[in-house]
Amino acid sequence: MLLDGKYVSEKLKEEITAEAAAVLATTGRQPHLAAILVGHDGGSETYVASKMKNCEKVGFKSTLVRYDESVSETELLAKIEEINRDPYVDGLIVQLPLPKHIDPEKVTATIDHHKDVDGFHPVNLGRMMRNLPCFIPATPYGILLLLEEYKIETSGKHCVVVGRSNIVGSPMSILMARNAYPGNCTVTLTHSRTKNLDDVVRSADIIIAAIGKKNFITAGMVKEGAVVIDVGINRETSAATKSGYKLYGDVDFEAVAPKCAYITPVPGGVGLMTIIGLLKNTLASAKKEIYGND
Ligand code: NDP
Repeated sequence: MLLDGKYVSEKLKEEITAEAAAVLATTGRQPHLAAILVGHDGGSETYVASKMKNCEKVGFKSTLVRYDESVSETELLAKIEEINRDPYVDGLIVQLPLPKHIDPEKVTATIDHHKDVDGFHPVNLGRMMRNLPCFIPATPYGILLLLEEYKIETSGKHCVVVGRSNIVGSPMSILMARNAYPGNCTVTLTHSRTKNLDDVVRSADIIIAAIGKKNFITAGMVKEGAVVIDVGINRETSAATKSGYKLYGDVDFEAVAPKCAYITPVPGGVGLMTIIGLLKNTLASAKKEIYGND
């Protein structure tokens, strides 16, 4: 069965729209997301445009600040500080990746954790570890919402996460092991140094693939009846599409789908849910649900 990110994201956007209208009615202003985009990377342009468009759809205000590739780290950090101080901005994201001369760790740490709706700041990550209220990184958050929507049983299951990035794999592994729903899994976090990866993945009840390699997870690596979450977004140029490219996941969907209980498509799965994670974090920030007025 398909875990349909399109259907679930549209449904949740309706709820977010109603909540944004309530925020406007009570505070006199819309939830407001600011995004900073450096350079012109094709993927980043698409993601940021989609985030801005979705803000508009649900009744949020959005502001995009653009810089050329050559912007200095000092100038970028000064802009972040300025937005941190702006009481009319609820959420601030800086689209990754950044040019090599800018340290992403410094950028992440400079964003005020009260506005860190991407959930990458060490304070939010630390609070997530301790199961305290925090902004959960948008992609893992979107995956949790999808599992919840389909009432996927997770307690006691073996969840294998493939990929250990700071933005997807590592936080996902922590969330799936938490004493919460979705969670309570026995988690194995795997990466490029993992031995016998095929065997490890084959033992999974739930597979979360965040590798960045087209069709990496093959049918032979998937147990009958497994739940498969495909985070990968791999772009290839294509003459057959209007946009000029085609998206592929990390999972060989055609071969794997017949074997598993549930699977996310690419596109139409986790990518759309990531936007929902970001919108929900921004809404929570506007409503001061995470940190109150501190
Ligand atoms: P990273 O490149 O940061 O991390 C990839 C991970 O995969 C690393 O931990 C790496 O291991 C591991 N890996 C690479 N090759 C292998 C291998 N042969 N065997 C086992 N593990 C391997 O990627 P991200 O986490 O940022 O993104 C992963 C994918 O998800 C990409 O396609 C990205 O575009 C997509 N993505 C999608 C989002 C969405 O909204 N749907 C959001 C964010 C990302 P090691 O650490 O050892 O190098």
